[in-house]
Amino acid sequence: KTRVRFAPSPTGPLHIGGVRTALFNYLFAKKHGGDFVLRIEDTDQTRYVEGAEKYIIEALDWLNIPFDEGPKKDGGFGPYRQSERKHLYREYADKLLASENAYYAFDTPEELNEHRKNHEAEGKTFIYNWHNRLKLKNSLSLSKEEVQQKLDAGDEYVIRFKSPENETLHLKDMIRGGMQIDTNILDDKVLFKSDGMPTYHLANIVDDHLMQITHVIRGEEWLPSLALHVMLYRAFGWEAPKFAHLPLIMKPVGKGKLSKRDGDKMGFPVFPLEWKTADGDTYSGYREDGYQAEAVINMLALLGWNPGTEQEIFSLEELVQAFDLDRVNKAGAKFDPEKTNWFQHHYLQEVDNGILAGQFKELLNNKGIKTALPVETITALLKERATFVEDIWDQGSFFFITPETYDEKAAKKAFKDGTAELLQQVIKLMNEVDDFSAANVSDKIKGWITDNEIGFGKVMMPLRLSLVGEMKGPDVFVIASLLRKEESIKRIEKAID
Ligand code: GLU
Repeated sequence: KTRVRFAPSPTGPLHIGGVRTALFNYLFAKKHGGDFVLRIEDTDQTRYVEGAEKYIIEALDWLNIPFDEGPKKDGGFGPYRQSERKHLYREYADKLLASENAYYAFDTPEELNEHRKNHEAEGKTFIYNWHNRLKLKNSLSLSKEEVQQKLDAGDEYVIRFKSPENETLHLKDMIRGGMQIDTNILDDKVLFKSDGMPTYHLANIVDDHLMQITHVIRGEEWLPSLALHVMLYRAFGWEAPKFAHLPLIMKPVGKGKLSKRDGDKMGFPVFPLEWKTADGDTYSGYREDGYQAEAVINMLALLGWNPGTEQEIFSLEELVQAFDLDRVNKAGAKFDPEKTNWFQHHYLQEVDNGILAGQFKELLNNKGIKTALPVETITALLKERATFVEDIWDQGSFFFITPETYDEKAAKKAFKDGTAELLQQVIKLMNEVDDFSAANVSDKIKGWITDNEIGFGKVMMPLRLSLVGEMKGPDVFVIASLLRKEESIKRIEKAID
């Protein structure tokens, strides 16, 4: 059975790149009838950020990409937080020690720094590996007795992977194809520390194995770890999962990776939900900024993947059907905030009108506006030009607030000698319409204009300005009918006053 995992470290809020990784894992799992596992990789206590796990789960929830297994959702492979699996890892570090794929090292941070400096002075980089491990303080250079003595004395240590010498590794990635790595350039990565905690590398491999993960789908930034991970599987004698490294997400303009600062600078969110830092900074989120989750999902799906057709609008189910890793690009994917708004406009139209009107009512409420107008009809009328609920307000605030001023340029053109008399006539005509429907009002007024050869602009422009305050909005008779007779007349009287 296909089993994939999303394995974030709770070191802060999940950013849009992390969400894309989660989404591709989810789509791949569902496409192949498999499981999507959430595993929290919290072995690095120094980088742990309060609230990050909750944020991650809430974000996946909002985006509607649910995990099948994870914290508080045991599928028989738990616990799903590495801090709760702490007791498991020592045994595996010991296995690697026993098979001589790993060794103890006692070099202090100061000593390592010293080595680094000395190398730099000679214009070289210090790598802890075959090249110099015998000159350093570890169980390969020290005698068995010395090592035992240090362990008995409680000296701090790390357990390092012993990367092989003079070997060419043949790595395979589902997106990138084959790669060759010369093991001589690899360093002996730390797997375990004397505080009893594994590092990312060990915990990640052990857990992927124990959780029977079949495909590791993750960001390109983990590609440099692939060689070590493959060697670890080999050292344990385990079958390795298949790997797929997703392309980086690039800045919308200029070069380089999208960073959380970019969003701030350019006014678009890079986080699914709002995030408040401990020092009181707030990063905006797609949810709070009024985006539909479907728009965010649709935008992310096309960041690095393409369906091979012209189709751009995909529901989640359609994505599951269409998705596969062979259409994921190698090259970085440019983040496009405008495209996100294009998707958002599309998905806002799909929202059930009653629900959208409910959200608009809430917005009116927050502005302290009480209204007897038919908000649902107004919502339906205005949403076509709206990308966010907020835009419905921008388009139609005049329904709820009587215009106090009139657009100057338009007013100059619209209000001329004789306009007041014409509008008086309009009031009279309106008064004669009993059933104040748009069609009735329109027939009445247009009929009068035609019969008297008045010219439409002479009436329509001042009429619209009286009702709206600007030359914008839907059909003026629709507006009048929604405002109702009394309010329409009041506004016209006010305008000619
Ligand atoms: N904990 C790693 C992260 O934060 C997981 C990387 C992986 O998927 O192997 O992304």
